[in-house]
Amino acid sequence: MPEEDKSIVSSEVNLPPRVAEFAEIEEQVVGVKAELIERHKISPEFFQDKIKYLIFLAIAQRQKRIREQHLPLEAADAEQALIDQMVILLTLDQSGNYSNYEKDIHNGSGEPDHLVEPVIDKFTQPALTAELKKSIAEGLLDDVKAALGVTTQTEQPYDIRVLSVGDQESTTGMYPSLTEEMNADSDHPELPAMYEAWDQIDEYMAGLEANKQEYMARVGNKGPLPIAWVEHIGDRIVLCMPQPYIEKILHTDQPRANFYDDHAREGDFAYLKHEYVHTQNPVAPKNQLFFGMGFEERRAEFFSGDRHGYQEIKGLYQDVETLSGVSITELIRRNAQSPFSFYVDLAKSLGLEAMLELSVLGPLVYMTEERPMYKKIFDQLGGYDGFLGRLHDQVLATGGEEAMNDRMKARTEYILSHNVLWTNEHRRKFGLNFVSNLVEEAIKK
Ligand SMILES: [Zn+2]
Repeated sequence: MPEEDKSIVSSEVNLPPRVAEFAEIEEQVVGVKAELIERHKISPEFFQDKIKYLIFLAIAQRQKRIREQHLPLEAADAEQALIDQMVILLTLDQSGNYSNYEKDIHNGSGEPDHLVEPVIDKFTQPALTAELKKSIAEGLLDDVKAALGVTTQTEQPYDIRVLSVGDQESTTGMYPSLTEEMNADSDHPELPAMYEAWDQIDEYMAGLEANKQEYMARVGNKGPLPIAWVEHIGDRIVLCMPQPYIEKILHTDQPRANFYDDHAREGDFAYLKHEYVHTQNPVAPKNQLFFGMGFEERRAEFFSGDRHGYQEIKGLYQDVETLSGVSITELIRRNAQSPFSFYVDLAKSLGLEAMLELSVLGPLVYMTEERPMYKKIFDQLGGYDGFLGRLHDQVLATGGEEAMNDRMKARTEYILSHNVLWTNEHRRKFGLNFVSNLVEEAIKK
């Protein structure tokens, strides 16, 4: 391995802070911890983040267990590789070895902060941004703030930008529909004005589309254009949303297509709320792209009304609840403003190692070929099903079988009485077969 010039602090000086709840485990893994710190040249500032530290502790516990199990050589090698990869993804550039692995961590997705920031500035639409900020100040997001427990005093600073970018999808609903009369009469006097309005929207969209092309190219995003997203620039969080969505959310007096009703508008609005949740005490550790992503997306969905995606994560956490009785969404709700307590709660409920695996088993959309090491870890853990199988064993080993069977029965009865067996098939598309199989066995009985 090539020498790095980053200063390496010896593990002796580098004693991380203790997590009171896991002091005993901490003591057991002192040696393993020191070894991992040395092998991965982990810098002292890594240990300032309590969440990352707790995950690190879980990795150390796994390392200790693997060693004590005396696995066959091949299995031991595979486990060791998995542990090292998890440390690499958790520590990122806080490891002196980072540059050796950079390409395996992420290759070519996204540009660095200093290149992204001026692009955001360039495409910021000032009038709409000001209007959105004013609406928020007047209460636009008050319900999600209330659910999160965010007050004027406790709200975390964030920036918000309406970007003058767009695509066809973003302008859905902006073309007013013809009335029945216009449809019936090709000489209707209002038709020419309507066609002119459509042309104007075409032109508007073409301009935004051109901006989008430049925006995406300059920030290194291969697309498609997200409906809303947050950028982490240094310590700042910037909520970005393309102009057409904000117009549809704010300008309710404008003529819209007849299918673009309140429900459709609520759908667009939910994306804004979802991203707002990401700006307030996110549960994913700071500057992390690999750990806690499932929790973070589930949290954003939960507090924005569960309108949209991440079906695989929603399904996984339901399966976790069926097996173990532990509701991750309840832990998220209970710790809405204290991310660290969420991890402690989860680790106390399911154990440090289950917390570790759930932390790294993120949404499928993050499992891209541009992030090879992340994908490798996912596969090595056997994906969601691999985790669920181990959780099942853990529940059986800790005397939870009867309660689990009761939950399985309740779920089965619900599926039968609501005639929603299709939800089982739906889960399989996301690789959630383990609990689906148990449910189907129960139905056969
Ligand atoms: Zn999100």
